[in-house]
Parts: sequence; C-alpha cells; structure tokens
Amino acid sequence: LGPIAQDLWSSPGTDEKGYFGYSTFRPYQREIIQKVLDGRDCLAVMATGSGKSICYQIPPLVTKKTAVVVSPLLSLMQDQVMSLKQKGVKSEYLGSTQMNSSVSNEAEKGAFDVLYMTPEKAISLPSRFWSNLQAAGICLLAVDEAHCISEWGHDFRMVYKQLHSLRDLLVGVPFVALTATATERSFIRDEVLVMVATIAFGMGIDKPDVRCVIHYGCPKSLESYYQESGRCGRDGLPSVCWLYYQRSDFTKADFYCSEAKNGTQRKAIMDSFMAAQKYCLLATCRRRFLLQYFGEECNTDCGNCDNCTAVKNERDLSKEAFLLLSCIKSCGGRWGLNLPIDVLRGSRAKKIVDNNYDKLQMHGRGKDYSSNWWKALGGLLIAHANSVAVFSLTKEESITKRFDFVCKQMAYYLTAEMIELEEHGSSHH
Ligand code: ADP
Ligand code: ZN
Repeated sequence: LGPIAQDLWSSPGTDEKGYFGYSTFRPYQREIIQKVLDGRDCLAVMATGSGKSICYQIPPLVTKKTAVVVSPLLSLMQDQVMSLKQKGVKSEYLGSTQMNSSVSNEAEKGAFDVLYMTPEKAISLPSRFWSNLQAAGICLLAVDEAHCISEWGHDFRMVYKQLHSLRDLLVGVPFVALTATATERSFIRDEVLVMVATIAFGMGIDKPDVRCVIHYGCPKSLESYYQESGRCGRDGLPSVCWLYYQRSDFTKADFYCSEAKNGTQRKAIMDSFMAAQKYCLLATCRRRFLLQYFGEECNTDCGNCDNCTAVKNERDLSKEAFLLLSCIKSCGGRWGLNLPIDVLRGSRAKKIVDNNYDKLQMHGRGKDYSSNWWKALGGLLIAHANSVAVFSLTKEESITKRFDFVCKQMAYYLTAEMIELEEHGSSHH
C-alpha cells in the first residue's frame, strides 16, 4: 500500500496534501484497505470516530473502480457525499424514494468513485444495473452501520437481512461490513444507562460523564485497573468506583501467567497481579497507593477513598500472623492454608492426627477466630509478602522467605472482610 497510498495522501486532489490531507493511517485502516485490495471480505468493528469511512473511500481511488456503500441514513449519506465532493472524489447517493434516474444511469456506467445507497435501494435495483456496474468495475461493497442486522439492537433494520441477495449478483466483489456495534453507540448517546461488559469494552470508549465503574472480580493487573477505573469521571465531576473481589480471584495467577513466554514476562505479570491483589486488600489510602505504584511522589492521604473515610481499624496482628505462619511452617509448608488453619482451630481430622499435627503446640490456639477470618489474614499476608522473591524459589524456600518477610512487618490493618467476619462471623464477599 505504501507508494499508492502516499499518492492519495499527497498528490492529485484539491490541496497539496492530496484527497484526504492525512499523513498517516490510523490503526487498522491500512490492514482493512489492504484486505479489500486483495479481494477479501472484511468485518471492521472500530470505535466511533476511529476513521472507518476512508477504509472504503480509498480503494476506489486506488483501483479506479466504484465503491458501493450501503448506508442506513439519508442524512449520513448526504454529509459524506458533500465532503467527498469537496475533496475532489466523485460521489453520489441513491435514496430509496427519489426518482433520480440520471444519477443511477451515470452510476451504472461507473461514473462515481463512491456510490452511496440505502439498503432498500440496494435490494430493489434491477440486476441489469448491477451487471452493468460490475462490467464498469466495482472494487467493493461496503455495508456501513452493519450492526443494523442485529435483532438485539434497537437499530435493527429488517432490510439488512436481505442484503445477502447481493452476494449472488456481485460474484468476486469483496464485501466490507463496518460497525462500532450498536451498544457502543456506545452508550455514547446516553440511551443505555447501565453497561455490563468484559474489559474489552472499555478500550476506545471516551465518554466524559461515566459516573460509576464497577469491577466484578480482582483485576488482572493494577495497571489495567487504573486504566479501566479511569473511564469514569473524565469530566472531573465526582464519580465512584466499586471493586468486588473474593479470595478465589487470587488463584488466577497461574492462568494469567500461562500467557508468559519467559521468566521475565512471568515475573512482570505476577508483579502486576500481586499489586492488584494488594490493592483489593489495602487498608490505607488507595489514591496514595496507586500514585506511589506508578512512581509519583505522594505523601498525603486523599481523604476521599473508602479507607480514608472509614473508621481506622489498625491493630497489631503480629501475634496472629506469627501463629498462622509458624503453623504453616510446622506443617511442612505443603498443605496450603486450609489444613494449617484447621490445626489452629483444633481440628482432629484424620489427616491432622495421622501427621501428628494435633501434637503441635499451636494446635487449637486459634479457636477465637473463624476459619474464614484466618483465611482472610492469610490472604492479607500473602498480598504483603514480596512476590518478587517468592516466585523464583522452590516451594520450601519460598515459604521461609515469605515467613521472614512477613514477620518483619508487625502491624497490619484489618481488611474490611476481617472486620465483617469479626462482627458478623460470615463473609459477604
Ligand atoms: P467513523 O466512521 O469510524 O465514526 P469517520 O470515518 O467519520 O469515523 O472518521 C472520523 C474522523 O477521523 C474524520 O474527521 C476523519 O476525517 C478523521 N480521520 C480518518 N482517518 C484519518 C487519518 N488516517 N488521519 C487523520 N484523521 C483521520
Ligand atoms: Zn484515600
């Protein structure tokens, strides 16, 4: 595409910069245009304003054949035709109700670079029109606002379903479907008040007045959380972020790490995930933690986050932390959290008795707290432990390192979950 496109950018048209006056392609434009020029069909789902139009406006200029564009709205077509004409691109539109036979007569002789038409018009044109136009040369058939084919959206247009009949008429012509998806339209127009989506939705959405972002589950990394939660309040007005997590979210590390190609990547993925976990469990100022994580100097609390506004629950948990960790150590560090916690709570389960763990001095010394409370403490300690040191070590070594690290840090804040467990004895997370 290089030299040809360069010409279109910078030669014939009406100004010295060429037809469009752009200096570079935006993401995916080159790929889509190349696909069309290769004669391939293409579905382009790109955010509103990302520049879908030139994907079907460039190929006719390159091939000197007509691009047929099916578009649902007359006003949209009028705008496009006008702006193309101004750029020196030959363009017209065929509406469904007009009797514009002169336009269609010219059109079928290949007089236009870009020929717009409504879907109704497209399916009602006689096959003679299409065979004539194809003889003159058609470089592509674009279906704009392609989401109109979806019965789920309120933009649904029955006639879009009939467009497939053009396939039989236009053998060998690449079809390009373009959409920003009905839901994105985005939501952007305020017709959708609540959007439930995967993280993929957040990308490219730049809506200034999103008031609330809710994460369901611990994010994959603190970097992505920062970006995703940053989707709200772009207009600077007060907005809220909720983050729901449960401890089982923290077991997804291996899943995320499976994407890693080598040890360095694995460590990077792990570090970011551990930071996200730590953020979940954080009991100090969240803004301060975030800014510091991203390398900004920040020595004051924000006074605004849940932790800043909550009643402080700082308590020295070193005794409990020590008890839990020494129990894990005494059990050989190979049982995870549940069995050592059962030991602390005085269980005489077969596994415990068989291994003589009921003879350990800490057996039964953790009865005052529920097993969920201990699990929450375990989660807290893991989040505070240095993941860097831990993952390059063998299992036995890592337990010892973690133990040393955690024991050096003597004061912990209780997490919201632990407070809840102390007060109500059950977890709502
Ligand atoms: P969409 O149809 O995806 O909503 P448009 O095709 O209307 O987006 O393009 C949005 C804007 O981006 C237009 O003003 C267009 O002129 C501009 N644009 C498109 N491609 C480029 C490019 N490669 N460089 C600079 N501006 C571009
Ligand atoms: Zn704060």
